[in-house]
Amino acid sequence: MTHSDFESKSALVTGAGSGIGRACATMLAERGARVLVADVAKEPAGKVADEIGQNAVPWVADVSDPEDCTAMVRHAVETFGRLDIAVNNAGVAGEQVPTADTSVDGWRKVISVNLDGVFFCMKYELQAMRERGGVIVNMASILGSVGFANAAAYVSAKHGVVGLTKAAAIEYASAGVRVVAVGPGFIDTPLLSEAPEEVRQGLEVLHPIGRLGTSEEVAELVAFLASDRASNITGSYHLVDGGYAAQ
Ligand code: NAD
Repeated sequence: MTHSDFESKSALVTGAGSGIGRACATMLAERGARVLVADVAKEPAGKVADEIGQNAVPWVADVSDPEDCTAMVRHAVETFGRLDIAVNNAGVAGEQVPTADTSVDGWRKVISVNLDGVFFCMKYELQAMRERGGVIVNMASILGSVGFANAAAYVSAKHGVVGLTKAAAIEYASAGVRVVAVGPGFIDTPLLSEAPEEVRQGLEVLHPIGRLGTSEEVAELVAFLASDRASNITGSYHLVDGGYAAQ
């Protein structure tokens, strides 16, 4: 049953060239969806689309650029005939310094990708979905509901994504568009690969389950929320965090 959840559905995933986005695109395609594998980086997008095979189409888009976002959604609709599912996943980590030392450029970069980018994608995805319904899954973080030192812009952007999710969900529920947010704990992806071993270990112990999560564990939640099995779920924020935020 599970593996035909997305038969005849079409999807787009941003930041799909790596980590969580790659896992989401792969899982949606494995379960039957045709997927636009979008990323700002051309080569990873092409590589992931190749790995997935015939259900995938690579696309280059910088989510912080509204023109790229409108072109991305238009291409998905032109290629697949419609857009049923969008996973707004692209994000960057940003500087790790206290708020007073955060550079203005660093602040703007994180907000432009992690918050403006989700808004730009949603604006055009909602235009494509409001006539016939659809599902939008926004990638927030545990830091969409709790704070974390030395990540002011990231925490602010992710809290913003949760708010944006709720606002749009209310507006489009009657049009058959569901909008939800996902809050992963720290996940073992290339985003964290540059962290020194002691930093990784320090992050692992913050999770009651004693380890980092995997991209596939996040993708399982995204795939459920994007499926018709989640038909009564909208406007909500769903953790996949090994117990992090329960403390
Ligand atoms: P990653 O660095 O492995 O992958 C992110 C992808 O996004 C990359 O392929 C990158 O090229 C792409 N990207 C970056 N800027 C972009 C832009 N402007 N437009 C389009 N694509 C862009 O990161 P990840 O860990 O897989 O993170 C994916 C999402 O999950 C992010 O929103 C991140 O904030 C969120 N998240 C990650 C973790 C974690 O611990 N890794 C935890 C919670 C939430």
